[in-house]
Amino acid sequence: MTITPPESEGCGGFCRACGTMHWLPPGSARHEAQLLQDRLAKQRTIALPPASRDVEGNLSTAWLFGPQRGKMFGVLECRDDEGRHTFLYGFSGQYNGLWLVPGWAPPLFDIDRFMEVTDPVERRIKNLGRHLEQETDSSAKKEMRTVRKRLSRQLMKRIHELYRLKNFAGQTATLEKAVGPAAPLPTGIGDCCAPKLLNQAAKLGLAPLSLVEFYFGRTNLSNTRLHGHFYPPCTDRCEPLLGFLLCGAASI
Ligand SMILES: [Zn+2]
Ligand SMILES: [Zn+2]
Repeated sequence: MTITPPESEGCGGFCRACGTMHWLPPGSARHEAQLLQDRLAKQRTIALPPASRDVEGNLSTAWLFGPQRGKMFGVLECRDDEGRHTFLYGFSGQYNGLWLVPGWAPPLFDIDRFMEVTDPVERRIKNLGRHLEQETDSSAKKEMRTVRKRLSRQLMKRIHELYRLKNFAGQTATLEKAVGPAAPLPTGIGDCCAPKLLNQAAKLGLAPLSLVEFYFGRTNLSNTRLHGHFYPPCTDRCEPLLGFLLCGAASI
C-alpha cells in the first residue's frame, strides 16, 4: 500500500525563550528544490559543481537507489546583508559514509572530535560482538550484551554533547539546551537537513527566508518516503530544535 504524504507547508517549532512558534514558509526554496532534484537526476552525482569522476564515486546518486535506500535533502533560501538571495543545500545524516561534502551544509559537530570520541568505542563494541559470537556460556553472553548496551548508550550521550546549534539571535546551545528539559534525545537528532541548514545560515550571517525538504531515491522500508516528494521536517527529531534554531530570524 502506498501512503500519500502531505505536501510540505514549510517548517517551524515552538520557541521556549519567546513563548511562541517560529516559522518559515516553503517560499522560493520549493522551486529551487525542484531544480536541485532535476540536477541530481540528470547529473547522477551530488558533487557541486558536478565532476564527471564523481558519477561513479562516493557522491554518485546510484547509492540512493541501492540497499541503503534514499535520503532527505533540504534547501534553505536566505538573504545576505546586501539583500541578495542565496540558497543553501543539505542532506540528512551522512552521504555514503561522508559527513562533509563541499557545497552542502556541514554537521553540527566538529568531525575530528566526533572521530576521536566514536572510533575507540566503536572498536570496543565491534570486538565485543566478535567475542559474543564465539562465546558459548549463556551467562557470559548475557554479561557481554549488557556491557555492549551500556557502551552504546554512553557513546550516544557523548556524541550528543558534541553538537552545537547557532541561532539567529546569536545564541549557541547544546542539543539538550535547545530541546529543553523534556524527553530524552532521540537517536539522530540534529542530523536532519533543517537543523544543519539553519545552523549554517546563522553561522554565515544569512537571514533565512524559506525552507523545504524532499526525499530522493529508493522508497524507505516503511514506505513513508517516496522519491521526489516533499515532506515537512520530522516531528520527533527536528521540531524540538526548530524553535531555538529559528529564534531571532528577521523575517519571522
Ligand atoms: Zn528531522
Ligand atoms: Zn524565539
